[in-house]
Amino acid sequence: MHVRFWGTRGSLPKPGPDTLRFGGNTSCVEVRTSLGTRVIIDCGSGLHDLGQALITAGKPIENGHILISHTHWDHIQGIPFFAPFFAPENKWDIYAPKGLGQSVQETLAGQMQYTYFPVRLDQMGAGIRYHELVEGTFKIEDLLITTRYMNHTALTLGFRLEADGAVLVYATDHEPFNPQLASGAGEISGRDREHSQFLRGADLVIHDAQFTAQEYTNRIGWGHSSVEYAVAVGKAAGAKQLALTHHDPLRTDDALEKLVKTTRESQLATTPFIGIFAAAEGQAMELGNGTLKEGSNGKSEWSLPHASALLKPTLVLAVEDPVAAKIIRDAAQSDCVTVMEAADADEALDIVKSAMPGIAVLDKRWTDVSGNHRSSYNIPVIVIAEEDRGSDFAEKKEAAGVEVLIKPFSAAYARTLIRASLLRTACRWQRALTAPYEEQRLEVLQGLGILDTPPEERFDRITRLAASIFNAPMALISLVDRERQWFKSAYGLNVSETSREMSFCSHAVASRNSLVVPDTFYDSRFSDNPLVADAPRIRFYAGYPLFVGDHCMGTICVLDRTPREISEESMDLLRDLAALVEAELARDGGRARFR
Ligand SMILES: [Zn+2]
Ligand SMILES: [Zn+2]
Repeated sequence: MHVRFWGTRGSLPKPGPDTLRFGGNTSCVEVRTSLGTRVIIDCGSGLHDLGQALITAGKPIENGHILISHTHWDHIQGIPFFAPFFAPENKWDIYAPKGLGQSVQETLAGQMQYTYFPVRLDQMGAGIRYHELVEGTFKIEDLLITTRYMNHTALTLGFRLEADGAVLVYATDHEPFNPQLASGAGEISGRDREHSQFLRGADLVIHDAQFTAQEYTNRIGWGHSSVEYAVAVGKAAGAKQLALTHHDPLRTDDALEKLVKTTRESQLATTPFIGIFAAAEGQAMELGNGTLKEGSNGKSEWSLPHASALLKPTLVLAVEDPVAAKIIRDAAQSDCVTVMEAADADEALDIVKSAMPGIAVLDKRWTDVSGNHRSSYNIPVIVIAEEDRGSDFAEKKEAAGVEVLIKPFSAAYARTLIRASLLRTACRWQRALTAPYEEQRLEVLQGLGILDTPPEERFDRITRLAASIFNAPMALISLVDRERQWFKSAYGLNVSETSREMSFCSHAVASRNSLVVPDTFYDSRFSDNPLVADAPRIRFYAGYPLFVGDHCMGTICVLDRTPREISEESMDLLRDLAALVEAELARDGGRARFR
């Protein structure tokens, strides 16, 4: 894997005699794999020189890829000046974090409006496709890319790139979740630990290091790391080399060299060793065992992490402090998130149960932050707290899995936290679409008069048979109701219903077809499903739809805790069993008609 730095400065281009050695251009890194896959990370002013180099090489670029961490100006300002975007023979794919309001294309076009630039984005000539990213993993040819939200004032993704037996992590702009870790000392826990795990075993980590620990004390909430924090998380991750980047515009070459020298010396006392350097414009390095082959013409076969549609994001707000409440309200509304007001925590919980909002924002005094309220809410919770650096609180919120906004907080930061929480839930697993003719379907289901009736042998013997035929530990006859799936018969499972939200069967009902999931871990619709991540830990699912008249009521399905394949002949057997269940349901339907 070939890596080259084209821009290493943070915030603002800073040309001049004091920045000759490390460079004055803002963020831009080029990555090429041994198969020739070309990925550009971030489009700061460094992109200009990279564009000139590509044009000079003279070859059309049929499949260039650009990853944008976020759309702050220092990460996109090179785009209007990127020469390869002006040639119609060039084809580019741009990947950037999915926002809640504007599309990526709209955001990038914003800086090229008439007031700011003479050429519009859509007039640039090259074929450009836009892709919106959430947290997940996807492939660009031979590159495996994992994305993760950074802790920044805007919605920002870090990128973990794997190819040629090498791992490269790009993690800027980011600041410690726990500001105390900026000193470089202290146990890395919670979200900072997760951040460090994102860097695990990397051959090279390119990390935000705009400030020193001392400078950071006056810049908490600005969205950038200290050098000391970058070293600490890099070491904890067992990374081999650390490139400090996003250099502060005020940091001269001499100051940067001195900073690297003292950082290297101070880290020698602790293990494991990590190579430290300040990323310099023009610097190139080779990672892993791959050697660069010119002229490879690999097909672009990418797939993207799946984000289910955020149809109407809503937020329930129970915050007494009018200033804090207004910031949250404004932040949500600017992203078209509907705000539902609650007078207190009880009312908020009622709203959560009845309206199923995407996120709750609550005063700390209404929550014991013990995890209890978290499970009763069952949605992401942001807690508003007074300044409280107590480690006790930090631990509790960690256990409860809540986000905390310490007062006072900026509107930009609140907005980022709300967005990240909403997008995270949206992509956790995919809820099935509602079946066509849903109301009529529910009417027929109600008409059967079967919901919430006690178990009956005529159904139980069919699930017993199914389990035995398929040698499966669990078999169900599941009927999909408005907000739940209810089991008329459950073999090997001790629950009578689950929420529709996490139901596998409702996917079969929506498609009116059989559904086979050989391994849930490798199916983005189910990999994070609570029934997969937690008990009963479903790894395999095969379901056959059950029809009453023209409407699909649910499925008969078999489940296993280990992944497996299923043959076509076996599916035929499942169809036969489904016919037996349908015959029983038809009898209920007949009875219902005479009631
Ligand atoms: Zn930046
Ligand atoms: Zn930024």
